[in-house]
Amino acid sequence: MKTPLTSIEEVLKEVHTQRPNADEQLIRNAYEFAKKAHEGQKRASGEDYIFHSLETARQLAYWGMDIETISAGLLHDVPEDTQTSLSDIQKNFGVGIAKLVEGITKLGALKYRGRGEQNKYVENLRKMFLAMAEDIRVIIIKFADRVHNLQTLQALPEKKQYRIALESMEIFAPIANRLGMWDVKGQIEDLAFQYVLPEEYQWITRKIARPLETKKIYLEKIQKKLETIFKEKNIKYRVIHGRTKGLFRTYKKALRKNRDITKIYDLVALRIVVEEVAQCYSILGVIHEYWKPLKGRIKDYIAQPKPNLYQSLHTTVFCDLGEIVEFQIRTKKMHDEAEFGIAAHWRYSEHEKVSPRWIKKQLSWMDELVKLQKEIQSDESFLESVKTNIFKDHIFVFTPMGDVIDLPEGATPIDFAYQIHTDVGDKCCGVKINDKIESLKTRLKSGDVVEIFTDKNRKLPSPDWLNFVITNSARNHIKSALKKGERQKVRTPISV
Ligand code: MN
Repeated sequence: MKTPLTSIEEVLKEVHTQRPNADEQLIRNAYEFAKKAHEGQKRASGEDYIFHSLETARQLAYWGMDIETISAGLLHDVPEDTQTSLSDIQKNFGVGIAKLVEGITKLGALKYRGRGEQNKYVENLRKMFLAMAEDIRVIIIKFADRVHNLQTLQALPEKKQYRIALESMEIFAPIANRLGMWDVKGQIEDLAFQYVLPEEYQWITRKIARPLETKKIYLEKIQKKLETIFKEKNIKYRVIHGRTKGLFRTYKKALRKNRDITKIYDLVALRIVVEEVAQCYSILGVIHEYWKPLKGRIKDYIAQPKPNLYQSLHTTVFCDLGEIVEFQIRTKKMHDEAEFGIAAHWRYSEHEKVSPRWIKKQLSWMDELVKLQKEIQSDESFLESVKTNIFKDHIFVFTPMGDVIDLPEGATPIDFAYQIHTDVGDKCCGVKINDKIESLKTRLKSGDVVEIFTDKNRKLPSPDWLNFVITNSARNHIKSALKKGERQKVRTPISV
């Protein structure tokens, strides 16, 4: 899929749609700075690199993010891919923006290597992704970045396409879901689908093409009819539009229905967006006055939100000519929250001119987590484990290859070495942390890149290590290696 090239003027237009009073100078400065830094660089798709930065920023503006975040979106690949450093960004744009860009750069160091050690690994990576991003806006920038990368994935070699698409499905989509960004989740899944399961993608695309077209034409008529009814009855609403179910979600539903497409009634649904909650219920009444609802298909997710906080009224009715149609009725706020999830908080915080304290609270990553944790009860195990494991006693460090190693807080390079392999531990002779030679006693921090040097002639670990390692596995390995060494020492003189 080819996306049209975005200009800075288009980004600013989007900014002003969401935030009419926004000061655009900062964004213009960030654009000029990024353009200069990326000068001469091309994307794999052949475009100038800056278009990727612009597309990332446009997406953030569309989600209603604040000016700092949009500027950081423009700058997000500068330290990673150019001669310009993070401290240059800090000098020009301040600590706030520099911190966001630093967060993105750190996340970029992660490499996902497929299902390797199964769910635990994926789960760890998800947790770490969340933990590393102290500011949730970092994750939101990462989503914008990823959506554009997926849109331009065609240009990459096949192996890379698969890796990025799989990572998107297994790491990004579930996180978007946890943060309530269902629209982003759907986009990511639909874009990745064709690379992860190409044959299934072909199958479902072909299978639904005809019914989708028929249903769309039919629903246009129903929509016109509904608009007339609302006019006659003087019923107010903001907008009615058709919404097409995401391709990947359709596919999953098809699997649940034994691949029988005719059993999927909501390939396209009609969505009605209104101002007030009360209007949702009166419109539901009007729809039922004209068309008979299917038994058990009236869902009041306003009074009883879904576990993921989704709110709307859904009803499925026997419509004109006996066609089955789903209607979704919701307020604008419910709609924005369904579409933008956690990002909607920024949108609303600016528009409603709420107190700085409230905004600060929204910006606080911990607060968000705690809030989510309280609200998403059915999902508590995930968030509970994020909170207890990550923030209390775990750190996540990287190998130079970008693999993630999960260690208890206070762990040293020796603990790290044994975590990788017993042999790496036993033969460890030095360490570089973030490219600097450090002592083997150094306490590691989350995000450190740790490179162990080994000496293949080394026979035994040092007994001194027992004084500072903190993991049981390192301690046990050192002890048993030393014991074995002792026995060999005793034996050697006899055999000579
Ligand atoms: Mn990028």
